[in-house]
Amino acid sequence: MTTRRPSFPAKLDRPSGPSPQVRPARVAGSMVTAAAAPQGLGLDSGAVRARMVQKLAAQGIRDPRVLTALGHVERHRFVDTALVNQAYEDTSLPIGLGQTISKPNVVARMIELLLAGQPDAAAPLGRVLEIGTGCGYQAAVLSCVAREVYSIERLRGLHDKARENLRPLRLPNVHLLFGDGMVGYAQGAPYAGIIAAAGGDAVPQAWVDQLAVGGRIVAPTVMPGGQQALVVIDKTATGLQRSALEPVHFVPLKSGIA
Ligand code: SAH
Repeated sequence: MTTRRPSFPAKLDRPSGPSPQVRPARVAGSMVTAAAAPQGLGLDSGAVRARMVQKLAAQGIRDPRVLTALGHVERHRFVDTALVNQAYEDTSLPIGLGQTISKPNVVARMIELLLAGQPDAAAPLGRVLEIGTGCGYQAAVLSCVAREVYSIERLRGLHDKARENLRPLRLPNVHLLFGDGMVGYAQGAPYAGIIAAAGGDAVPQAWVDQLAVGGRIVAPTVMPGGQQALVVIDKTATGLQRSALEPVHFVPLKSGIA
């Protein structure tokens, strides 16, 4: 078994600049499967992922781009060593600081919704903003289906963890940001899609403003009864179309950084 590269010759920090700070997760190439072999997973991770993808398809995920992306990204690299054996189960897992990596089924469902909302649903997704980088897993999956991914995290510890996790994957189209995602990231706008991994009481106006016409927001949002549901907002030339879909359970969307 080979070991992880001890370091990577990337200069990831912008010396100074507007907040939030942009930190490309990349350096070169576009492989989502890292050069290093899986560690601590006593199974062929490709076969386990293939089974996970089969289950996702059986659960109703149809878009082949989404299934391919989930089959490609090594989820076990994004969770703690002690949880590696659960990495391909359809469950959310703790990633530290009280946060969780979302269930594969939810990641797949939300990205499928994002793709389906585009004016040409078969075309590649343009620029995407993800609120809540967490461990970086969903950002890696998004990098397979979107041209550019801007992913913002409000907890410094997780932003740094995501950077660590994503560095060996060398994804030139993923840009990690540290900041409050409630205000979006105007410098990257307009976005073809905005996807939130944390649930707020309402979809912030900044996200709507930063969405391109023809774009879609997919965000868990607290409903009047107090339960979260997946909310989809489409921005059309004539206005916004909003629909609330199935119930979900996401960590709360919080303002500010920590
Ligand atoms: N997509 C992530 C899931 C992370 S959980 C993954 O694949 O691991 C949701 C994340 O949203 C948490 O890390 C939480 O800190 C973050 N979050 C909550 N409110 C936020 C905000 N206003 N801006 C940015 N990130 C936020």
